[in-house]
Amino acid sequence: AQFSDFLFPDALMRGLASEDYATPTPVQSQVIPLAMDGLDLLVSAATGSGKTAAFLLPMMQRFIDVPAHDSGTRALILVPTRELARQIHIHFMRLGSYTRLTSGVITGGDSKAHQIATLRKNPEILVATPGRLLELLQSGQAKLGDLEFLVLDEADRMLDMGFTDDVLAILAHCNPQRQSLLFSATLHHRGLKSITDRLLRDPQTVIV
Ligand code: AMP
Repeated sequence: AQFSDFLFPDALMRGLASEDYATPTPVQSQVIPLAMDGLDLLVSAATGSGKTAAFLLPMMQRFIDVPAHDSGTRALILVPTRELARQIHIHFMRLGSYTRLTSGVITGGDSKAHQIATLRKNPEILVATPGRLLELLQSGQAKLGDLEFLVLDEADRMLDMGFTDDVLAILAHCNPQRQSLLFSATLHHRGLKSITDRLLRDPQTVIV
């Protein structure tokens, strides 16, 4: 596939060009068209495969084409570590630098007051680790009732780090009318099913 096959808006094509992404990686070729069709996906893909852009691009395309009818979080990317959250946020800002889309980071260890201020600005996209996000949901400072797009990245690491209960509690706050994508290095992890059963609806499996 070529990026031009996906008929992305100009702003995204400019973002891709400024990053020097000439052609989609295998995971991008498989995931982008399925995600643009609105399907739930269960994806096995390693770090370094280009998986981040595979979920960011369809999400950004949707939000450029269909502006929000009101404010509120439209997409949530749940990740196991602060470092990964920061990397995804940077990746998003670079690819999206020709769009008006905004993202915020919610992770443990950083100032809660600062994160509450971030939430008040209503970024379309949140990149979060489970513990702190759950706290902010329980106190009513974060709201996911209008969520359209949910990504669980590095789900196997999330399970290994003991985040299963937090993830399930977060899912209970999420709009059930949403599209969900799960990325994991392996799909054979014990415990993955407890999350996929509650997260995904008739998912397509993509193995890269
Ligand atoms: P990831 O697997 O998402 O962590 O991405 C690994 C690296 O590949 C990152 O440095 C990306 O900037 C880069 N990358 C992602 N997609 C492409 C692409 N289509 N062409 C070239 N590099 C890419």
